[in-house]
Amino acid sequence: MICSIPRIAILGFHLEANAFSPVSTMADFTAQCWEEGEVISTLARQTSHLPVEIPGFYKRMDETGPWIPVPIIVAATPPGGPAQRAVWDTFMEKVESGLRNAGEFDGVYIANHGASSAIGLDDTETQLVRMIRSIVGPHTTIIATHDLHCNVSEETIKALDALISYRTNPHVDQRERAAEAADLMHEALSGQKLVSAYIRLPITPPSVTLLTAHGPYADAVHKGAAMIQARGEGPIAAVSVCAGFVFSDLPKCGMTVIVTARGDLPKARYTALEIARSIWADRARYVPDTISVASAVEMASTADSPLLLADVADNPGGGGGGNTIWLLKAFHEARVPGVTLGVFIDPAVVANAHLAGVGAQFRAVFNQTPNEFAHRYEAQASVIRLSDGNGTGRRGIYKGREFSLGPSAVLELTDSCVRVVVGSLRRQLADPAMLEMHELDISRIRILVVKSRGHYRAGFDEFFKADQIHDVDSKGLTTPNLAQVPFKRLPRPVWPLDETAHWVEPSWEIN
Ligand SMILES: [Zn+2]
Repeated sequence: MICSIPRIAILGFHLEANAFSPVSTMADFTAQCWEEGEVISTLARQTSHLPVEIPGFYKRMDETGPWIPVPIIVAATPPGGPAQRAVWDTFMEKVESGLRNAGEFDGVYIANHGASSAIGLDDTETQLVRMIRSIVGPHTTIIATHDLHCNVSEETIKALDALISYRTNPHVDQRERAAEAADLMHEALSGQKLVSAYIRLPITPPSVTLLTAHGPYADAVHKGAAMIQARGEGPIAAVSVCAGFVFSDLPKCGMTVIVTARGDLPKARYTALEIARSIWADRARYVPDTISVASAVEMASTADSPLLLADVADNPGGGGGGNTIWLLKAFHEARVPGVTLGVFIDPAVVANAHLAGVGAQFRAVFNQTPNEFAHRYEAQASVIRLSDGNGTGRRGIYKGREFSLGPSAVLELTDSCVRVVVGSLRRQLADPAMLEMHELDISRIRILVVKSRGHYRAGFDEFFKADQIHDVDSKGLTTPNLAQVPFKRLPRPVWPLDETAHWVEPSWEIN
């Protein structure tokens, strides 16, 4: 029981690590978010670039009584390769010195993505939580929130008091989950003991099958959410049904179920087992529903109402480069009318467009330094518009959050009139503001091609109904066709890659 005003440490590390993407560097973090100390409290109480769990946690804590936030560090980068080891080590040093120098704490709130890794270190989350536990001791409450695309090990759960993961995909509930974390923090501070059960399933679903509006994952998440009981009404305090992020290619990948109970471990285990059994029984439904590039071109050529086509295999929001040319090339060469495609990431093309100026024509050379997925492609183009790429999101995952595409340009390719929004920083096209900032009228776009896997749905649903949206499969770092990916460290067999995948239930004695 805490009788004085509680002091809560605040920290977080957001990286969704795709083992096949280029290493995430300090420059990647500083371009998005690397904040230390008191400024975090200021940023958390205004529109900012912080991950939105942080303002969500502050708001709830501010509403529910006096508290003293002790912000340590919040670091975030777009999904990409594992963190450079020096970046991770610097983050850990900042956390350690920040906690040691700030005195006693009553609680620690960690806003992690939950699928991070660093070069040479698989389980960054466990290393972080264990270090925090070693500093604050066994009686200080540590609660974390995670993205639902997190890879959770049992060791992380053992070192935490509770974990709460998102329940929406596209992700629009970060603030609500952070508010739950704040409420649970208050419960723990008032003396409530929290215990958790953990189950990992050998299932790594393709990301496109993990929507929460409908489908098998929606059913699993809703089943879990329905089992949560309010304070005073029952023991189940939190249920997280985590989808995992298969492209991390780590031993801890897989769907996990984490149930936190108010002191009642058998009840937590029983609940986790019930949910895990239903997911396992339902595993055959995790099948991608995608169309080929050729079908997308055909559909777009003959469509009599607007279409949104998602290039899900090249999603910067999953570690993709945002620079594969398969759809751009196909639509340009087929002369499909009324196409706008974005955001294509190519700083060199943007720089040349800025040099040429609005109204000028130039030779756009995409991917001057090509790689396996990002092939070189040239086309004559006119410069329609130029910008600094800085904006504020208005719908979905970017709502109320500042974003930057870096210097940007809108090009119109000669002959086809395909319009390409080109940016300099890897960001997925998930918010209408990313087009509107370039004075593009989305209601007049006939065919919109987005480089995004699923978050675009929460941004563009005011323009496109579900039957006007199709996910397109091509080659890329975030392909839904997992058989194409050269996994090395994923535990096998695993569903749906291996028919022989099997799950052994934990041997808990549950009465
Ligand atoms: Zn996610």
